Amino acid sequence: MAAPRIIPIAPDVGSRETRSTCPYCGVGCGVLIRTEGAQIVDVRGDPDHPANFGRLCTKGSTLHLTAAPHVTAQARLLQPMQRARRGAAPVAIGWDDALATLSDRIVETVQAHGPDAVGLYISGQLLTEDYYVFNKLAKGLLGTNNVDTNSRLCMSSAVAGYKATLGMDAPPTCYEDFADADLVFITGSNLAWAHPILCRRLEDAKAARPGQKWIVVDPRRTETAAMADLHLQILPGSDVALANGLLHLMLWEGFTDNAYIRAHTSGFEALRERVRECTPRETARATGLREDDLLTAARWWGASGAVLSLYCMGLNQSAQGTANNGALINLHLATGQIGRPGAGPFSLTGQPNAMGGREVGGLANLLSAHRDLANPAHRAEVAALWGVDDVPAAPGKTAIEMFEAAADGEIKLLWIACTNPAQSMPDQATVRRAFERAEYVVLQEAFATTATAAFADLLLPASTWGEKNGTVTNSERRISRVRPAVPPPGAARDDWRIVVDVARRVEQRLRPGRGSLFPFDDAESVWNEHRGTTRGRDLDITGLSYALIERDGPQQWPFPEGATRGLARLYTDGRFPTADGRARFFDAEAKPPAEPRDARFPFSLTSGRLRDQWHGMSRTGTLGRLFGHAAEPSVDLCAQDMARLNLADGDLVRVVSRRGELVLPARRSAAQASAQAFIAMHWGEEVLTGRGASADAFAGVNALTTPASCPQARQPELKHCAVRITRAGLGWRLRAMAWLPQAEALARRERLRPLLAQFGYAACVPFGREPDTRGRLGLWLDVADLQAPDELALAGLRAELDLAAEAMLDYRDPRTGMQRGLRVARDAEGAERLQGFWICGTDAADNAVSQWWRETLEADAPLEMPARRMLAPGARERGGGAAAPASPQMCTCFNVSVAQAESALAAATGDAAQRIAQTQAQLRCGTNCGSCLPHLRRLAQEQITLAVEA
Ligand code: SF4
Repeated sequence: MAAPRIIPIAPDVGSRETRSTCPYCGVGCGVLIRTEGAQIVDVRGDPDHPANFGRLCTKGSTLHLTAAPHVTAQARLLQPMQRARRGAAPVAIGWDDALATLSDRIVETVQAHGPDAVGLYISGQLLTEDYYVFNKLAKGLLGTNNVDTNSRLCMSSAVAGYKATLGMDAPPTCYEDFADADLVFITGSNLAWAHPILCRRLEDAKAARPGQKWIVVDPRRTETAAMADLHLQILPGSDVALANGLLHLMLWEGFTDNAYIRAHTSGFEALRERVRECTPRETARATGLREDDLLTAARWWGASGAVLSLYCMGLNQSAQGTANNGALINLHLATGQIGRPGAGPFSLTGQPNAMGGREVGGLANLLSAHRDLANPAHRAEVAALWGVDDVPAAPGKTAIEMFEAAADGEIKLLWIACTNPAQSMPDQATVRRAFERAEYVVLQEAFATTATAAFADLLLPASTWGEKNGTVTNSERRISRVRPAVPPPGAARDDWRIVVDVARRVEQRLRPGRGSLFPFDDAESVWNEHRGTTRGRDLDITGLSYALIERDGPQQWPFPEGATRGLARLYTDGRFPTADGRARFFDAEAKPPAEPRDARFPFSLTSGRLRDQWHGMSRTGTLGRLFGHAAEPSVDLCAQDMARLNLADGDLVRVVSRRGELVLPARRSAAQASAQAFIAMHWGEEVLTGRGASADAFAGVNALTTPASCPQARQPELKHCAVRITRAGLGWRLRAMAWLPQAEALARRERLRPLLAQFGYAACVPFGREPDTRGRLGLWLDVADLQAPDELALAGLRAELDLAAEAMLDYRDPRTGMQRGLRVARDAEGAERLQGFWICGTDAADNAVSQWWRETLEADAPLEMPARRMLAPGARERGGGAAAPASPQMCTCFNVSVAQAESALAAATGDAAQRIAQTQAQLRCGTNCGSCLPHLRRLAQEQITLAVEA
């Protein structure tokens, strides 16, 4: 397959396409970036890429909008910056000064306190080349293993699970297995939202293989769970109990493959003893499931020719993460469901290059090419490959340990790259202490707006998607090229280049007169050295080259010298990379979550992803259109818990754990089980702010989460902690919304952050439909406090939103203190159009009015009644404005709300497929990226059920 790097489209206008890879998730979709001159103007899925065959989800298909000039100007870090002291505004400096300062601080720290006083905290967003040089800098040059990554928060349980059972950290499966599976067992993964393109592939597989069944294991009834043939809605943290219970049933029912167990595994007897007492009754008690459902799941598994399990953060982000992984892999080994088409345990990676980081050993306990730090022979091999005397033997600090060590004063210098620990790490109180105590904090980042940027002494501007050159590896071990379509803006530089420039300065001082360990001129030379370290290892890629990938497209590993293609599946011969060639059963003991709910903290809080956002929103949060699906932060509760707490949608509650608290609007959700709450991981300080009980009170869900971690993988239990939920008791509420010039809106949001910090709760969220032909981006503001603030406190907010009272139609009730204002402009036809509104006071009815005005403003249509009348009390009821809350958006591509889809489906006729086809002909929802298709199908099914009941 030819894969030219650059495809001219219209050379006369300088338009061209560059093949690259989506930077968001581990699916690893290929993209074609269209540029005109030095500007990215569009993106589409690469039809030749074997991960996505041309498809992109909402996030991937809007990538070009995040590279728009106004976003770059307002959100990117464009030059090195330095703070004279913490809290001071950073000042621009040149690269020479920045590199000299950082290398001096590193050398001084190493010489004064030893190499372990330095900690490097890096990211699964980095390319393999970036990862490689960071790892070599720490372990080869500085002599510390204190290099860890946010992949620790994401994948380390999967690494430990694979190694403990199969012998090596290698997913044995591939995406093609979707089409061959009879049963797909999805556990701890909301695939429909977190890996949408894999969900599309799975839907295709089921359409082509109607007998294929899906079991989804999840405490929440997620979009993925709603698609399942069987949803096992387990209690949070009961994954091992479920797997052991299923194994008990499979033994009882005779579904185990005894010949495979005898020929290819070890350790089964101990496990058999372990699960002897895991009866259906005991398993039902531990998991909250019905015995019948357990039996159904076991029988479906046992009766299936090929079983594929797909799993992700729900298993990994647990204090029992390795056991969760091991217990699931046990099921595959015990039934011989591995090493065949359509069969095997398939860990889905969250980040785009979590796999690449693992390959180069970019974690505190690993070495290059899947070598183990604890193995003296492996250390000697790496030292020889790098040309250094040795690699330090002492294990490095893993993510949580690194920040704890900084908080304790043990680590003096923290160098953070391409990640946002001030939001993403659990137990933010400790993270904030680490930033205060560390003597020097460096942040290497593409975006200037992340929460971590506020704590950095030195900020180094890095290149990002569309600008970088290198490779990433996706969930199925496939290496894709990342190619630059445009040069980095401002003074931003490639991550690998920054590291090499610092390393060369440091090595002149720490090992003068010896050759450079960093003789790299470009990304390819870094990758070639990495390739050399893989020779003879399980991930041997000595047969690959940039040129081969250029010619033949993305390739899976292993791909040793002499091979003509990589291996799609591993362990097809039943031999595993262990000392005796046998896979090992994992003796997993079921334990309760690290922090079970109790009388003081009676809710189980889980966290997870939204469909259209990515991590801390540094990129996706720059687009208004990606907030259409989830327009505001919330804590989700079931209807019964909302009623028990006497809460209506939007009421503010205080969510309190043993470590911190967070104020959020409550929202009723059918996905939630009783006594369980959910907060999306994305909401952090870029959106949330306010005067909290502590400095970390608005860091998002991780103000609450526990640092308890898996003893083998050291992955924290981000998925679960115990909380209590009470009314926030903030009686005064402000809601405001305004269209603003897009060239200023994001900067204004930044300026609003300190102003909003004086209130008890505040959220500031963009809205809009990029590309906006009128050059606008909107901001939505929701603010609350104990009582009405003085006018001075509000004046700054009004000014940033262009909602000063004198610029608006204004109504004030002197008796209640309620204020309402509308900013209106006349269009070319002379019709009034709403540009912004402001409504505050203590009247609960204002919520319905603000909903009405919000819908009116977002509709961007001529007003149906004069704006002056809209201000009057009772106008909404008289004018027929929205009485119910605005319907959330379902389809981001064509801006179709849930209510519109429901109405079209109700008017359509025939079965679900026919109604969907008629609805799509009318509204086009789901006909572009397809991310809303699971939702649309669910609504269609609900309409059919309603029709039958009627
Ligand atoms: Fe990007 Fe979406 Fe593909 Fe993930 S599924 S790589 S976010 S386009």
